[in-house]
Amino acid sequence: MKASQFLISTLKEAPADAEVVSHQLMTRAGMIKKLGAGIYTYMPMGLRVIQKVEKIVREEMNRAGAIELTMPVVQPAELWQETGRFDKMGPEMLRIKDRHERDFVLQPTSEEVVTDIARQELRSYKQLPKNFYQIQTKFRDERRPRFGLMRGREFVMKDAYSFDRDRDSAQASYQVMAAAYRRIFDRFGLTYRAVAADSGAIGGDLSEEFQVIAATGEDAIVYCPNSDYAANIEKAEALAPQGPRPVATQELAKVSTPGTSSCTALADFLGLPLSATVKSMVLATDEVNDYDEVTKTRVFLLLLRGDHEMNEVKVGKLPGLELGFRLATELEIAEHFGCKPGYLGPIGLKRPVTVIADREVALMADWVCGANEIDYHLTGVNWGRDLPEPDLVADLRNVVAGDPSPDGKGPLAIERGIEVGHVFYLGTKYSQAMNATFLAEDGKPRHFEMGCYGIGVTRLPAAAVEQNHDARGIIWPDAIAPFTLVICPIGMDRSEAVRAAAEQLHDELAALGVDVLLDDRGERPGAMFADWELIGVPHRVTIGDKGLKEGQVEYQHRRDEAATKVAVAELLALLK
Ligand code: ATP
Ligand code: MG
Ligand code: MG
Ligand code: MG
Repeated sequence: MKASQFLISTLKEAPADAEVVSHQLMTRAGMIKKLGAGIYTYMPMGLRVIQKVEKIVREEMNRAGAIELTMPVVQPAELWQETGRFDKMGPEMLRIKDRHERDFVLQPTSEEVVTDIARQELRSYKQLPKNFYQIQTKFRDERRPRFGLMRGREFVMKDAYSFDRDRDSAQASYQVMAAAYRRIFDRFGLTYRAVAADSGAIGGDLSEEFQVIAATGEDAIVYCPNSDYAANIEKAEALAPQGPRPVATQELAKVSTPGTSSCTALADFLGLPLSATVKSMVLATDEVNDYDEVTKTRVFLLLLRGDHEMNEVKVGKLPGLELGFRLATELEIAEHFGCKPGYLGPIGLKRPVTVIADREVALMADWVCGANEIDYHLTGVNWGRDLPEPDLVADLRNVVAGDPSPDGKGPLAIERGIEVGHVFYLGTKYSQAMNATFLAEDGKPRHFEMGCYGIGVTRLPAAAVEQNHDARGIIWPDAIAPFTLVICPIGMDRSEAVRAAAEQLHDELAALGVDVLLDDRGERPGAMFADWELIGVPHRVTIGDKGLKEGQVEYQHRRDEAATKVAVAELLALLK
C-alpha cells in the first residue's frame, strides 16, 4: 500500500468532547469520525484495525466449530414480544415504525432472531450441538454514549449463540467458547483478565467477562494475586460476607415528600433558585439502571449547571419538558438548551453520590435527593465546591482492596477494566419463552439449552489504545495494527536511489505477506514521523541517501527510544 493512494488525515487537536485517551488519539489519528452522539464513521485507517479484529475473531470462532451467518439489523417487534423483551428492554432499545405503522427494533443483540432460526432449522437432536455467530452492527441507545468507540450507540459486536440437547452438553459448549475467547484475546496481544460475572438466576457460575485492564475502564474487577480468583465487582459484592451495601433512608423525609417534584424539593432544600448559576458539576458513582428517576435528577442538575441562557429557564415551564413528569435524556435536554451534554454522571440510585458544583454554595454533605418515593433516592449526596472526585471503587463499594479473598488465598486487589467480551450460559430461558424445541432421542420435543457469547469488535480497538499509548500517540500490538510496518523514505523526490530502495523494500515485504505501507507523500521527516507515531504503526523503517551508501537503513519499533542501523539484508530477518 502507498500512502498517496490511501487516506491519512491526522489532527493536531483532539475534539473537546473526547474525555479519554483512546477517543482523543483515534480521532486525531483519523481512524474514526463522529457523525452523532455515539455514532461514528470507521475511517479507512480505523477500519483496517476493526477488520483485523474481525479476522482473528472469525478464525477462532470457525476453529471452535461455530457457524457464521448474518441476522438483520432491523427486526420485527413480534419476536421481541414473544420473549417480553420488547417492553423489558426499555429506552436502550431503539424502536422504529415502517410505513404501515408496524413496530420494528434495531437489534441490540439477537437472541430472539437466532432462537427463531433454531426452532425452524434444528429439528432433531442429531443436528445438535450448533453454534451460530455473526459479526454485525448493533444499536443500543445508551444512556451515556461516550468515550468514542468504547460506548457507542451504533457499534459492531460478534455475537454467538449455542444450541444444545441438554445441560451438560450446553456447559461443554460454553467451555469451548470460553477457551476460544482466551485464544482470541491472547492473539490481540492485550493484557486482560477473565472474571466471573453475574449469571442471573439460571447460570450458576457460567458467566465470565473478558476485561482489558486499563485505568480508564468503566468496570471494577476484583482478583486475588495469589490465585485464580477474579470477579467483576458486582459478583464479588454479591458474594461478600457483609452482603450488598445497605441503603440509608433516614434522611429521606428532609428533601422529598410524596407528590412533590424531587427537583423542586431539592432546590428548596438547598435554598437554591432553580435558575442558579452553576458552571460545572460532576456527579460520580457507579452504574444504575433506574433510568426514570435518574433522568429526573439529571434534568435538575443540568439546569443548575447551565450557562447564561440556561439561567433564564424556569423548571416546569419548558415546552415539552415537564420536568419531573416527562422523561428526557441528557442529550435531549442539551439539545433543547443548545448546550453541550457534559459529564454528568453516572448518577447512582440507592448509592452514595458526590456532586461537585463550581458555585458559591456552602459545602454540604450527605444529602438525599432524587425522586419522590422512599427507596428511590440518591443517598449520601455531597454538594459543594472543590470536592475531590471520589475513588469510585474504594469509596463506594462493599468489597475493597485488602479484603480476604473468598478462596482464602490472600488479600484481594482491585483494578479497572474494560469489558470486551462476555460469555453466558442461558439455559432454556429463550427456548421456553419462544417454544423452541427439537425432537430428543426418545422422540419427545425438548427445549434447547442455550448460551450466548459477545465480543465488542469496535470497543476492542479503543481498549487496546487505552492500554497501549504514550505522549506521542497510539502503540498498536502487531496483530491489530492498521499497518504492521511503515517505510519512511527521506527525500524520495530528490533521490532516485532512495525511491528505488523504498519501493523495492515495499514490494519484498508485501510479497512476504507483511502489511506494509510506503509513505510516498513527500512529507518532511518530522511531520512524517509524527503522523506514524500518532497512528501507532509498530514498526518503522527509514531510508535515506546517507545510510544507503553504506547499505543501511534505520529500523525503529514504536516503543524504541531511538532507531537502529541495520543492513538492508538483515532487515527482513529482523522482522521475521
Ligand atoms: P456494558 O456493561 O459495557 O454496557 P454489556 O454488558 O451491556 O456492556 P453485552 O450485552 O455483554 O454488553 O455485549 C457484549 C459485548 O459488546 C460487551 O462485552 C462489549 O464488549 C460490547 N458492547 C456492549 N455495549 C457496547 C457499546 N455501547 N459500545 C461498544 N461496545 C459495546
Ligand atoms: Mg450495557
Ligand atoms: Mg456489562
Ligand atoms: Mg456484558
